[in-house]
Amino acid sequence: MADRYVVVGNPITHSKSPQIHAAFAAQTGQNLTYERLLAPLDGFVASVEVFRAEGGKGLNVTVPFKQEAWQLCDALSERAQLAEAVNTIKFEDGRIVGDNTDGVGLCRDICHNLQHALQGKRILLLGAGGAARGVILPLLAEHPACLTIANRTASKAEQLAQRFQHYGQLGASSYEALAGQQFDVIINATSASLSDALPPLPGGCFAPGSLAYDMMYGKGLTPFLLFAQQQGSAQLADGLGMLVEQAAEAFCIWRGVRPDTTAVIAELRAGLC
Ligand code: NDP
Repeated sequence: MADRYVVVGNPITHSKSPQIHAAFAAQTGQNLTYERLLAPLDGFVASVEVFRAEGGKGLNVTVPFKQEAWQLCDALSERAQLAEAVNTIKFEDGRIVGDNTDGVGLCRDICHNLQHALQGKRILLLGAGGAARGVILPLLAEHPACLTIANRTASKAEQLAQRFQHYGQLGASSYEALAGQQFDVIINATSASLSDALPPLPGGCFAPGSLAYDMMYGKGLTPFLLFAQQQGSAQLADGLGMLVEQAAEAFCIWRGVRPDTTAVIAELRAGLC
Protein backbone atom coordinates (compact mmCIF):
# COMPACT_ATOMS: atom_id res chain seq x y z
CA MET A 1 0.00 0.00 0.00
CA ALA A 2 1.28 3.46 -0.91
CA ASP A 3 1.68 5.97 1.94
CA ARG A 4 -1.02 8.65 1.84
CA TYR A 5 -0.54 12.43 2.00
CA VAL A 6 -2.94 15.32 1.33
CA VAL A 7 -3.04 19.10 1.15
CA VAL A 8 -5.90 20.52 3.22
CA GLY A 9 -7.45 23.90 2.46
CA ASN A 10 -10.61 25.76 1.50
CA PRO A 11 -10.72 26.39 -1.42
CA ILE A 12 -8.33 23.71 -2.65
CA THR A 13 -9.05 22.96 -6.33
CA HIS A 14 -6.38 25.44 -7.47
CA SER A 15 -3.57 23.75 -5.49
CA LYS A 16 -0.56 22.65 -7.52
CA SER A 17 0.83 20.57 -4.64
CA PRO A 18 -0.44 17.17 -5.96
CA GLN A 19 1.39 17.78 -9.26
CA ILE A 20 4.56 18.82 -7.42
CA HIS A 21 4.60 15.85 -5.02
CA ALA A 22 3.75 13.37 -7.79
CA ALA A 23 6.81 14.65 -9.67
CA PHE A 24 8.99 14.38 -6.51
CA ALA A 25 7.74 10.82 -5.83
CA ALA A 26 8.44 9.70 -9.40
CA GLN A 27 11.90 11.26 -9.33
CA THR A 28 12.92 9.70 -5.99
CA GLY A 29 11.10 6.36 -6.40
CA GLN A 30 8.92 6.89 -3.32
CA ASN A 31 5.68 4.90 -3.09
CA LEU A 32 3.09 7.49 -2.06
CA THR A 33 -0.14 9.19 -3.06
CA TYR A 34 -0.86 12.91 -2.57
CA GLU A 35 -4.35 14.36 -3.00
CA ARG A 36 -6.35 17.51 -2.34
CA LEU A 37 -8.64 17.52 0.71
CA LEU A 38 -11.32 20.17 0.99
CA ALA A 39 -12.12 20.80 4.66
CA PRO A 40 -15.25 22.72 5.70
CA LEU A 41 -14.33 26.15 7.10
CA ASP A 42 -15.45 24.95 10.56
CA GLY A 43 -14.13 21.42 10.11
CA PHE A 44 -10.34 21.50 9.79
CA VAL A 45 -9.58 19.49 12.95
CA ALA A 46 -12.24 16.87 12.21
CA SER A 47 -10.92 16.44 8.64
CA VAL A 48 -7.38 15.93 9.91
CA GLU A 49 -8.53 13.38 12.51
CA VAL A 50 -10.48 11.38 9.91
CA PHE A 51 -7.46 11.35 7.59
CA ARG A 52 -5.19 10.24 10.43
CA ALA A 53 -7.62 7.48 11.48
CA GLU A 54 -7.63 6.23 7.88
CA GLY A 55 -3.84 5.78 8.09
CA GLY A 56 -2.65 9.05 6.51
CA LYS A 57 1.06 9.74 7.05
CA GLY A 58 1.16 13.52 6.82
CA LEU A 59 -0.32 16.60 5.22
CA ASN A 60 0.23 20.09 3.99
CA VAL A 61 -1.98 22.92 5.22
CA THR A 62 -2.95 25.95 3.20
CA VAL A 63 -5.29 28.95 3.43
CA PRO A 64 -7.13 29.49 5.77
CA PHE A 65 -6.02 26.75 8.20
CA LYS A 66 -2.32 27.38 8.94
CA GLN A 67 -2.99 28.96 12.32
CA GLU A 68 -5.50 26.27 13.33
CA ALA A 69 -2.90 23.67 12.36
CA TRP A 70 -0.40 25.39 14.65
CA GLN A 71 -2.86 25.11 17.54
CA LEU A 72 -3.58 21.44 16.78
CA CYS A 73 0.02 20.18 16.89
CA ASP A 74 1.50 18.27 19.84
CA ALA A 75 5.06 19.28 18.91
CA LEU A 76 6.41 22.14 16.78
CA SER A 77 9.67 23.18 15.14
CA GLU A 78 11.08 26.48 16.40
CA ARG A 79 10.25 28.19 13.11
CA ALA A 80 6.61 27.02 13.26
CA GLN A 81 6.34 27.95 16.94
CA LEU A 82 7.51 31.50 16.27
CA ALA A 83 5.46 31.89 13.10
CA GLU A 84 2.34 30.61 14.88
CA ALA A 85 1.54 28.93 11.58
CA VAL A 86 2.02 25.35 10.34
CA ASN A 87 2.02 24.24 6.71
CA THR A 88 3.48 20.74 7.15
CA ILE A 89 2.26 18.01 9.51
CA LYS A 90 3.75 14.59 10.10
CA PHE A 91 2.04 11.89 12.17
CA GLU A 92 4.82 10.43 14.27
CA ASP A 93 4.56 7.95 17.19
CA GLY A 94 0.97 8.97 17.87
CA ARG A 95 1.81 12.68 17.88
CA ILE A 96 0.96 15.48 15.46
CA VAL A 97 4.26 17.18 14.63
CA GLY A 98 4.12 20.58 12.89
CA ASP A 99 6.60 22.59 10.86
CA ASN A 100 6.58 25.64 8.64
CA THR A 101 8.56 25.23 5.42
CA ASP A 102 7.53 28.50 3.71
CA GLY A 103 10.59 30.45 4.89
CA VAL A 104 13.10 27.78 3.95
CA GLY A 105 11.38 27.57 0.57
CA LEU A 106 11.73 31.32 0.05
CA CYS A 107 15.38 31.39 1.11
CA ARG A 108 16.32 28.41 -1.04
CA ASP A 109 14.64 30.01 -4.04
CA ILE A 110 16.43 33.33 -3.51
CA CYS A 111 19.87 32.07 -2.48
CA HIS A 112 20.13 28.85 -4.50
CA ASN A 113 17.85 29.14 -7.55
CA LEU A 114 18.21 32.89 -8.11
CA GLN A 115 21.81 32.97 -6.85
CA HIS A 116 21.12 36.10 -4.82
CA ALA A 117 22.98 35.95 -1.48
CA LEU A 118 21.14 37.55 1.47
CA GLN A 119 24.09 37.90 3.83
CA GLY A 120 24.83 41.56 4.54
CA LYS A 121 21.83 42.75 2.50
CA ARG A 122 19.19 45.30 3.49
CA ILE A 123 15.90 43.39 3.22
CA LEU A 124 12.44 44.94 3.17
CA LEU A 125 9.51 42.59 3.85
CA LEU A 126 6.09 43.95 2.84
CA GLY A 127 3.15 42.51 4.81
CA ALA A 128 2.61 41.12 8.29
CA GLY A 129 0.19 38.25 7.63
CA GLY A 130 0.76 34.50 7.79
CA ALA A 131 3.22 34.38 4.90
CA ALA A 132 5.38 37.18 6.33
CA ARG A 133 5.42 35.59 9.80
CA GLY A 134 6.60 32.30 8.33
CA VAL A 135 9.63 33.72 6.56
CA ILE A 136 11.12 36.06 9.19
CA LEU A 137 13.22 33.50 11.09
CA PRO A 138 14.70 31.81 7.98
CA LEU A 139 15.46 35.26 6.48
CA LEU A 140 17.27 36.33 9.67
CA ALA A 141 19.20 33.04 9.61
CA GLU A 142 20.82 34.25 6.36
CA HIS A 143 22.44 37.11 8.35
CA PRO A 144 21.15 40.14 6.42
CA ALA A 145 22.46 43.59 7.44
CA CYS A 146 18.89 44.38 8.50
CA LEU A 147 15.33 43.24 7.97
CA THR A 148 12.59 45.88 7.91
CA ILE A 149 8.92 44.83 8.05
CA ALA A 150 6.43 47.30 6.57
CA ASN A 151 2.69 46.84 6.73
CA ARG A 152 -0.45 48.79 5.85
CA THR A 153 -1.55 48.31 9.47
CA ALA A 154 1.79 49.41 10.93
CA SER A 155 1.01 48.11 14.45
CA LYS A 156 1.09 44.52 13.11
CA ALA A 157 4.59 45.08 11.71
CA GLU A 158 5.66 46.44 15.11
CA GLN A 159 4.28 43.38 16.90
CA LEU A 160 6.22 41.08 14.59
CA ALA A 161 9.44 43.06 15.00
CA GLN A 162 9.05 42.75 18.78
CA ARG A 163 8.38 39.02 18.69
CA PHE A 164 11.49 38.29 16.62
CA GLN A 165 13.73 40.99 18.12
CA HIS A 166 16.18 38.53 19.69
CA TYR A 167 16.88 36.75 16.41
CA GLY A 168 18.55 39.49 14.38
CA GLN A 169 18.67 43.10 13.22
CA LEU A 170 14.96 43.79 12.84
CA GLY A 171 12.81 46.92 12.46
CA ALA A 172 9.21 47.89 11.68
CA SER A 173 7.90 50.70 9.51
CA SER A 174 4.83 52.23 7.95
CA TYR A 175 4.90 52.57 4.15
CA GLU A 176 5.20 56.37 4.33
CA ALA A 177 8.27 56.17 6.58
CA LEU A 178 10.10 54.16 3.89
CA ALA A 179 10.49 57.28 1.72
CA GLY A 180 14.16 58.08 1.26
CA GLN A 181 15.36 54.57 2.26
CA GLN A 182 16.88 51.99 -0.08
CA PHE A 183 16.88 48.18 0.09
CA ASP A 184 18.80 45.44 -1.71
CA VAL A 185 15.96 42.91 -1.55
CA ILE A 186 12.25 43.78 -1.39
CA ILE A 187 9.86 40.88 -0.80
CA ASN A 188 6.13 41.32 -1.33
CA ALA A 189 4.41 39.07 1.22
CA THR A 190 1.12 40.99 1.05
CA SER A 191 -1.96 39.60 -0.65
CA ALA A 192 -2.29 42.82 -2.71
CA SER A 193 -1.34 41.06 -5.97
CA LEU A 194 -4.30 38.68 -5.55
CA SER A 195 -6.59 41.66 -6.21
CA ASP A 196 -4.26 43.21 -8.79
CA ALA A 197 -3.29 45.94 -6.32
CA LEU A 198 0.06 47.46 -5.46
CA PRO A 199 1.25 47.94 -1.86
CA PRO A 200 1.74 51.71 -1.27
CA LEU A 201 5.54 51.55 -1.51
CA PRO A 202 7.11 54.97 -2.14
CA GLY A 203 9.33 55.39 -5.21
CA GLY A 204 13.11 55.19 -4.84
CA CYS A 205 13.29 52.21 -2.43
CA PHE A 206 14.99 49.80 -4.87
CA ALA A 207 18.77 50.04 -4.51
CA PRO A 208 20.96 49.53 -7.61
CA GLY A 209 21.28 45.77 -8.25
CA SER A 210 18.24 45.01 -6.10
CA LEU A 211 16.03 41.92 -6.20
CA ALA A 212 12.24 42.32 -6.21
CA TYR A 213 10.42 39.16 -5.11
CA ASP A 214 6.64 38.66 -5.14
CA MET A 215 5.38 35.58 -3.26
CA MET A 216 2.40 35.54 -5.59
CA TYR A 217 2.97 33.81 -8.94
CA GLY A 218 1.18 33.59 -12.25
CA LYS A 219 1.43 34.39 -15.91
CA GLY A 220 3.22 37.69 -16.51
CA LEU A 221 4.38 40.31 -14.00
CA THR A 222 2.35 41.17 -10.91
CA PRO A 223 1.63 44.88 -10.22
CA PHE A 224 4.45 44.85 -7.65
CA LEU A 225 6.96 43.37 -10.12
CA LEU A 226 5.86 45.85 -12.81
CA PHE A 227 6.44 48.70 -10.35
CA ALA A 228 9.85 47.25 -9.41
CA GLN A 229 10.79 47.04 -13.08
CA GLN A 230 9.80 50.69 -13.61
CA GLN A 231 11.85 51.59 -10.52
CA GLY A 232 14.94 49.98 -12.04
CA SER A 233 15.13 46.81 -9.94
CA ALA A 234 17.81 44.55 -11.44
CA GLN A 235 16.16 41.17 -10.81
CA LEU A 236 12.48 40.22 -10.69
CA ALA A 237 11.08 36.95 -9.36
CA ASP A 238 7.68 35.54 -8.48
CA GLY A 239 6.81 32.92 -5.85
CA LEU A 240 6.66 29.81 -8.04
CA GLY A 241 10.12 28.72 -6.96
CA MET A 242 9.17 29.27 -3.31
CA LEU A 243 6.09 27.09 -3.79
CA VAL A 244 8.16 24.20 -5.15
CA GLU A 245 10.95 24.65 -2.59
CA GLN A 246 8.58 24.67 0.41
CA ALA A 247 7.10 21.45 -1.01
CA ALA A 248 10.57 19.92 -1.36
CA GLU A 249 11.30 20.70 2.30
CA ALA A 250 8.00 19.06 3.34
CA PHE A 251 8.81 16.01 1.17
CA CYS A 252 12.19 15.78 2.88
CA ILE A 253 10.57 15.95 6.35
CA TRP A 254 8.20 13.10 5.43
CA ARG A 255 10.43 10.85 3.33
CA GLY A 256 13.98 11.71 4.41
CA VAL A 257 15.06 12.39 0.83
CA ARG A 258 15.43 15.79 -0.85
CA PRO A 259 14.07 15.93 -4.40
CA ASP A 260 15.65 18.02 -7.13
CA THR A 261 13.42 21.02 -7.84
CA THR A 262 14.83 22.46 -11.08
CA ALA A 263 12.81 20.36 -13.53
CA VAL A 264 9.63 20.66 -11.43
CA ILE A 265 9.84 24.47 -11.36
CA ALA A 266 10.38 24.48 -15.14
CA GLU A 267 7.41 22.14 -15.69
CA LEU A 268 5.10 24.33 -13.60
CA ARG A 269 6.39 27.50 -15.25
CA ALA A 270 5.62 26.05 -18.68
CA GLY A 271 2.11 25.20 -17.46
CA LEU A 272 1.48 28.85 -16.53
CA CYS A 273 2.01 30.10 -20.07
P1 NDP B 1 -2.75 37.25 4.96
O1 NDP B 1 -4.20 37.47 4.65
O2 NDP B 1 -2.39 36.54 6.22
O3 NDP B 1 -1.99 38.69 5.03
C1 NDP B 1 -2.23 39.64 4.05
C2 NDP B 1 -1.24 40.80 4.21
O4 NDP B 1 -1.32 41.61 3.04
C3 NDP B 1 -1.49 41.72 5.40
O5 NDP B 1 -0.26 42.14 5.92
C4 NDP B 1 -2.27 42.88 4.75
O6 NDP B 1 -2.10 44.11 5.45
C5 NDP B 1 -1.58 42.96 3.42
N1 NDP B 1 -2.36 43.58 2.34
C6 NDP B 1 -3.47 43.10 1.75
N2 NDP B 1 -3.86 43.90 0.76
C7 NDP B 1 -2.99 44.95 0.72
C8 NDP B 1 -2.85 46.11 -0.09
N3 NDP B 1 -3.73 46.38 -1.08
N4 NDP B 1 -1.81 46.94 0.14
C9 NDP B 1 -0.93 46.67 1.13
N5 NDP B 1 -1.00 45.58 1.94
C10 NDP B 1 -2.03 44.73 1.73
O7 NDP B 1 -2.14 36.53 3.67
P2 NDP B 1 -0.87 35.56 3.62
O8 NDP B 1 0.20 36.19 4.44
O9 NDP B 1 -1.28 34.18 3.96
O10 NDP B 1 -0.48 35.55 2.06
C11 NDP B 1 0.14 36.66 1.44
C12 NDP B 1 0.56 36.31 0.02
O11 NDP B 1 1.60 35.34 0.00
C13 NDP B 1 -0.58 35.73 -0.84
O12 NDP B 1 -0.52 36.34 -2.11
C14 NDP B 1 -0.22 34.25 -0.95
O13 NDP B 1 -0.72 33.69 -2.14
C15 NDP B 1 1.31 34.33 -0.94
N6 NDP B 1 1.95 33.08 -0.51
C16 NDP B 1 2.78 32.43 -1.39
C17 NDP B 1 3.43 31.27 -1.04
C18 NDP B 1 4.31 30.58 -2.03
O14 NDP B 1 4.75 29.44 -1.77
N7 NDP B 1 4.65 31.20 -3.15
C19 NDP B 1 3.28 30.68 0.30
C20 NDP B 1 2.42 31.46 1.18
C21 NDP B 1 1.78 32.60 0.76
P3 NDP B 1 -3.04 44.50 6.72
O15 NDP B 1 -2.44 43.79 7.90
O16 NDP B 1 -2.92 45.96 6.83
O17 NDP B 1 -4.42 44.03 6.39
